[in-house]
Amino acid sequence: MRFSKLFGKTLRQAPAEAESVSHQLLLRAGMIAQEAAGIYSYLPLGWRVLKKIENVIREEMDKAGGQELMLPVLQPFELWQQSGRYVSFGKSLFTLTDRKEHTLALGPTHEEVITDLVHRYVQSYRELPLLLYQIQTKLRDEPRPRGGLLRVREFIMKDLYSFDADEAGLDESYQKMSQAYTNIYARLSLPTLVVEADSGAIGGKDSHEFIVLTEGGEDEIIHCSNCGYAANAEKAQFAKKKSNAAAPLSLEEIATPETKTIEEVSGFVGVPPSQTLKAVFYFSDGEFVFVVIRGDLEVNETKLRNALKCAELRPATESEVIEAGLVAGFASPIGIKGVKVVADDSITTGFNFVVGANKLGYHLRNANYPRDFQVDLMTDIALARVGDSCPKCRSKLSLSRGIEVGHVFKLGTFISEKFGASFLDNDGKSRPIVMGSYGIGLGRLLAAIVEQSHDDKGIIWPFSIAPYQVYLCPLNLEKSAVLPTAEKIYRELQKAGIEVLFDDRDDSPGVKFNDADLLGIPLRLTLSPRTLQSQSIEAKWRTEKETQLLPLENLTVQLKKLLDETLRSQS
Ligand SMILES: [Zn+2]
Repeated sequence: MRFSKLFGKTLRQAPAEAESVSHQLLLRAGMIAQEAAGIYSYLPLGWRVLKKIENVIREEMDKAGGQELMLPVLQPFELWQQSGRYVSFGKSLFTLTDRKEHTLALGPTHEEVITDLVHRYVQSYRELPLLLYQIQTKLRDEPRPRGGLLRVREFIMKDLYSFDADEAGLDESYQKMSQAYTNIYARLSLPTLVVEADSGAIGGKDSHEFIVLTEGGEDEIIHCSNCGYAANAEKAQFAKKKSNAAAPLSLEEIATPETKTIEEVSGFVGVPPSQTLKAVFYFSDGEFVFVVIRGDLEVNETKLRNALKCAELRPATESEVIEAGLVAGFASPIGIKGVKVVADDSITTGFNFVVGANKLGYHLRNANYPRDFQVDLMTDIALARVGDSCPKCRSKLSLSRGIEVGHVFKLGTFISEKFGASFLDNDGKSRPIVMGSYGIGLGRLLAAIVEQSHDDKGIIWPFSIAPYQVYLCPLNLEKSAVLPTAEKIYRELQKAGIEVLFDDRDDSPGVKFNDADLLGIPLRLTLSPRTLQSQSIEAKWRTEKETQLLPLENLTVQLKKLLDETLRSQS
């Protein structure tokens, strides 16, 4: 490719709205262009990278036994009603009405369509297992698109669905996919961490994320350096300390004027926050919910949303709290009626808690569950924090930020049952197909690679996915032999199948070198009057400072050897 003909321009400065490093560099390198919030075009250079990533993914999916197909973007809305997931997806699901007044959804994911399809074709256990995948555009009405390609509304995704006869089969498919993902990231020279994840709106059981640890990431990862436990903060657990066991004492009202927060109450009464119970109020799909948790802990809203199985969860306003018959700041689970109470299991870790008396200026001492109050739901809804104890080994947990570049789910029979997707086992008995779902967002993966691999001059592409392998950079084109020699090298390299970007622009060395660094092409070849004098060309790897001179004679053969070695060492 001739740089002079290349569509897209490099920019000296990133536009002010570009927040993340990958967003800035991809815009500056002319690889992507923004059309609207969370909607991007890939320009030729960016598209070449994306196609290479796509090929790596496709090869690994095929190697794992996946069959590629293509499902529609336009999906009958009835399928989303059938699965019930139009509720959990809520406003993230784009819908439209066609000329016959039928509602259609624009696919944010394809579990519904593919389960409906498999339901119509698969009848016997002999047809299982099945691994079906596609690489296709998805649409999601993200509330907060951000970070360039990191969180967008239209994106290309590889989604594979596994269909098995039983849980053991699912485990095997899950294992196979996890291995395929590990292979993909290795081929892209991208270090990832596998963490336990929340299944979110997709629903299901086991779920893991592949995370690239980087400052710019929006996911929070809780991990233990001692035993390797790692989980998304939305899902992370921790060992809740038990208080020194004491016998339950009898309930006692105490005046606590001017004490509303847990700190004020614990200070006033003279007990640690862990000896108090905190009340927090939410609205869950229009229903008022009273949450009670130990005073030293915070509510994890993702865990709470999952426990309540609700689509919308928001904190209740003060007037809603009063309307529910509670005294804000002094609310109590003791003696309340007609309100749903959800408790974190931390309230069972001790005795004799201080809790509100539901009376202005008063608290109760020695509150004990279940003696003094009942709850509708008791589970883990607490947020794990830095310094909490690891659930596996009790060491201190730490927190890092990262980008999710892959997600694997064990769906189980949750969706197949809704679609009647069943098969006859070898006893002739009908059973629901056991499903898994496995996704990789290609654009986010591309952005994560840039977040991970760059310097202050620009992008450093791993060799396997660089838009071109070689940046051919002749200098001082007005000097007689430079341009014709460069043209000749360009033709020879192309003939040898080497991907080369030929900077044939009549620009200064500074401009050309800056662009070469910004675009991040692995090998730069500089031809100048000086190198020409010694019948050589200067070679410089993007990752190294030193240069070396290669003789022009047999240049193609030498280069091919050099590039093949590099490719081998990186894969
Ligand atoms: Zn641990």
